[in-house]
Amino acid sequence: MNAELKDVKKVIPITPVESEPDEEGELISLYAAHEKIYPRSVTGMFSNWRWIMVWVTQIIFYGLPWIEWGQRQAVMFDLSVRRFYIFGLVLYPQDFIYLTGMLIIAALSLFLFTAVAGRLWCGYACPQTVYTEIFLWFEKLVEGDRAARIRRDEGPMTAEKFGRKVVKHFLWIAFALYTGFTFVGYFAPIRELASDILKNNMSTWGYFWVFFYGFATYGNAGFMREQVCKHMCPYARFQSVMFDKDTLIVTYDAERGEPRGARSKKADLTKLNLGACVDCSLCVQVCPTGIDIRKGLQYECIGCGACADVCDTVMDKVGYPRGLVKYSTENAMKNKWTQQQTLRHVFRPRILAYSGILLAIILAIMVSLFTRTPFKVDVVRDRGVMARVVDAGTTENVYRLQVMNATESDQRYRLSVEGLPGLVLTSEDTVSVHSTEARTIPVRVQLPFEGASPGSHEIHFTIESLDSPGKLIEKSTFIVPKN
Ligand code: SF4
Ligand code: SF4
Repeated sequence: MNAELKDVKKVIPITPVESEPDEEGELISLYAAHEKIYPRSVTGMFSNWRWIMVWVTQIIFYGLPWIEWGQRQAVMFDLSVRRFYIFGLVLYPQDFIYLTGMLIIAALSLFLFTAVAGRLWCGYACPQTVYTEIFLWFEKLVEGDRAARIRRDEGPMTAEKFGRKVVKHFLWIAFALYTGFTFVGYFAPIRELASDILKNNMSTWGYFWVFFYGFATYGNAGFMREQVCKHMCPYARFQSVMFDKDTLIVTYDAERGEPRGARSKKADLTKLNLGACVDCSLCVQVCPTGIDIRKGLQYECIGCGACADVCDTVMDKVGYPRGLVKYSTENAMKNKWTQQQTLRHVFRPRILAYSGILLAIILAIMVSLFTRTPFKVDVVRDRGVMARVVDAGTTENVYRLQVMNATESDQRYRLSVEGLPGLVLTSEDTVSVHSTEARTIPVRVQLPFEGASPGSHEIHFTIESLDSPGKLIEKSTFIVPKN
């Protein structure tokens, strides 16, 4: 029986359902209990990049809701009135196509980045990684680095240990609640929310959502950590289908590193018959998911590069070239390509195709957004009023025009109708609609008897904005009754 399984036996209560007999007839649990991971802190190029991403994403996340745009919050998703405000842009449910476009862009970007360099998103920008990094920073601040944390957790409860735990959880909870508050601030005016909290005047639902998101942050970043990446995130499961032999992944150069083993700094490697790996296990200690990169690519690896950073520092210390653990591709390792050759193969046709499609979709959405008419019109025939004869020799149809002003200033619109000889609009031809509001206007259209034969005829309403550029033509039908 191997050592790992023996360890598992020690900690798992064995039940007949979860267990199977081994060759010696002993029961072995097939369930591995979760072992707490104490990631060691690390410095280096990839760690710096992760912290840059932490700062960039968090400055945007916490700062954006406080920016004002005119009389309102610059970015707010106001679900109560079904309007999304993004700086000068106001999106309505009718603009759902843009949301779809943004989701397509997000999905394609994920495909692109994954094909280029594996789980880049997971390792550097995913909220789970970012918040875990922040929570680990608080943990290190209060409880010290890995060794101190392990020692304290294994020791008995003392006043000092209890005090540190209380301070750590207090900081975690405060940060998590502020995160929950900020998140809710994207859906309700954040300044009002802050003043309501200070006056203890917030709605029950407001409190519920702040605590809900706060609790999710506290649980995921404080306790669940790598469990989310390993067992809950669906992306980890299908990432491998996006990899190929030219995808950059964190790789251990086994040819150079093996056979591994400890040695003195001055030892002659050729005499010792040892590879470059000094078997210090630091790459395992810094890994946030607790895996050993020397066993090859594993689905738990989030591609954070922490093992590459720490191994480089070890290589520096022992005076060997860096890059025993590095970002490389399967083909580059097999063919011993240089960095330039590797990069040349990374930008392969598949990547160019993804980039081209992505660029085309982004351009199409931008063009559509910037050229869209800043108002919308729906024409509905008034079903309550049938086509009727009004004056001798004239047929009248009644319609309802719903005009939605998508701008943030009041607007006037001129209405006209055409499509049949003699067709005229007899109701008001100029209407005003307040900013970001919709107004339903009854419209009467008349046609002389000789203008069309009995039946249904296609007509067109033209709605032209008088205060901003934009014109819409909407189709409808005019009914001429039989005599
Ligand atoms: S950090 Fe580098 S040298 Fe140390 S065990 Fe890992 S691969 Fe080997
Ligand atoms: S194996 Fe290396 S790159 Fe992968 S998650 Fe662990 S530390 Fe990060």
